[in-house]
Amino acid sequence: MTLEKESLGLLQEALARLEEGFDSLPKFDRDPNLDALRTVLLEVAERMQDNYPYPHPLYVGQMLKPPTEIARLAYMLSLWINPNNHALDGGRASSAMEKEAVAEIAKMFGWETHLGHLTSGGTMANLEALWVAGNLQPNKKVVASNQAHYAHARICSMLRIPFQSVPCDSHARMDIVALKKLLQEDDIGTVVVTIGTTATGSIDPLPEILELQAEYGFRIHADTAYGGYFMLVDNLDAEARAAFDCIKQVDSIVVDPHKHGLQPYGCGCILFKDPSVGKIYKHDSPFTYFSSEELHLGEISFECSRAGSSAVALWATQRLLPLIPGGEFAGYLSKSRKAALTLFEKLQNDSRFVVAFPPELDIVVWVVKSQSASESSRLAKEIFKAAAQENLHLALANLPKELFLETGEGINWDQDSITCLRSCLMKPEHLDWIDSIWQTLDAVTTKVLNT
Ligand SMILES: *Cc1c(COP(=O)(O)O)cnc(C)c1O
Repeated sequence: MTLEKESLGLLQEALARLEEGFDSLPKFDRDPNLDALRTVLLEVAERMQDNYPYPHPLYVGQMLKPPTEIARLAYMLSLWINPNNHALDGGRASSAMEKEAVAEIAKMFGWETHLGHLTSGGTMANLEALWVAGNLQPNKKVVASNQAHYAHARICSMLRIPFQSVPCDSHARMDIVALKKLLQEDDIGTVVVTIGTTATGSIDPLPEILELQAEYGFRIHADTAYGGYFMLVDNLDAEARAAFDCIKQVDSIVVDPHKHGLQPYGCGCILFKDPSVGKIYKHDSPFTYFSSEELHLGEISFECSRAGSSAVALWATQRLLPLIPGGEFAGYLSKSRKAALTLFEKLQNDSRFVVAFPPELDIVVWVVKSQSASESSRLAKEIFKAAAQENLHLALANLPKELFLETGEGINWDQDSITCLRSCLMKPEHLDWIDSIWQTLDAVTTKVLNT
């Protein structure tokens, strides 16, 4: 595997341009000890060899995707300034870039106005969403499906908001009948709708949940940390498309630019439809703000110091690859989805495997056909290990047996969950590599099943 280095030359040129902005200052140089730097840096390079090859297309395991060149370069470039987006004093340009980039994301979901900002990740963004929800709906329950991200339950316990999980259907989507029953019996303040679950990329039935909202009245928070950017693609199935098409009706949205938005880690995003929720954040800080009449990003965020570089990287990425249907960025995601559909088809046509359901995004989950759930789980772990030895990196996921009620005929359920093989086909290159991925999977499966 080679690492892309050609673009680094641009960084020199851009640093010279950045320097020009500070020409009027008295000369001030730093003089690093290059020998000492070199020793440690090469040591770091060696330490970093101890990683799975995340950027390579044969890494098809967990949710890991390399940042795109422009994000990497813009992030590095801005490190010479190291802006802090807590307050405008700490990062003037990068705060403006954050507002612009976040507005583009809001627009992608169909919002012309919003309140929002970047966070260090999806968990912090969800924390803010549920904190606002809890303030607006005091003492009422928050519910999320049992396939929602586990952090929702934990966040609610932190905020001392009562939480309940809602069962899923056989496609790992929130069961609408179960939700309706809860709404009839209980005081539900907020429903967390997951658009792209972390394990399987499943999409809760938002159109039906909106119908229930009209009847029962509750807030809807959409956790699209993983799936949000699929808003832009042209090859979703009808149910998934319908959910995205009404996403602008929800009250808050979380999306992770560091998942599918080509960003380095440290970039999540929270958006509220109603900008007036900003009043909930209101506080008086004696020391941070003095340069602007405007609402500082630090005034509407939990986190104080935040990486301005994250905002710069995101802004630059969206400048190069705008968030528009039919654009280059959308094309990347369509390819990922197509790769997932191709893998799904191959698995479905192979009698050694059982697939629970077709992928709704670009995550595929399958089990090894076997007489029992425990034996199938053992085989999945063996295939996982054998594949890694052949440089094919898959993931494992433990999923409840309910997901296999339709397709897992003949499996003796000697345990309630089953270890599945799982692939997040997040890189556009996965589509071109799918035959090679399949060949290795095929070969190692044959080997494992014959020993
Ligand atoms: C990844 C993920 C999160 C958590 O986001 P982090 O950025 O890892 O903190 C929350 N919800 C969903 C659906 C996710 O996929």
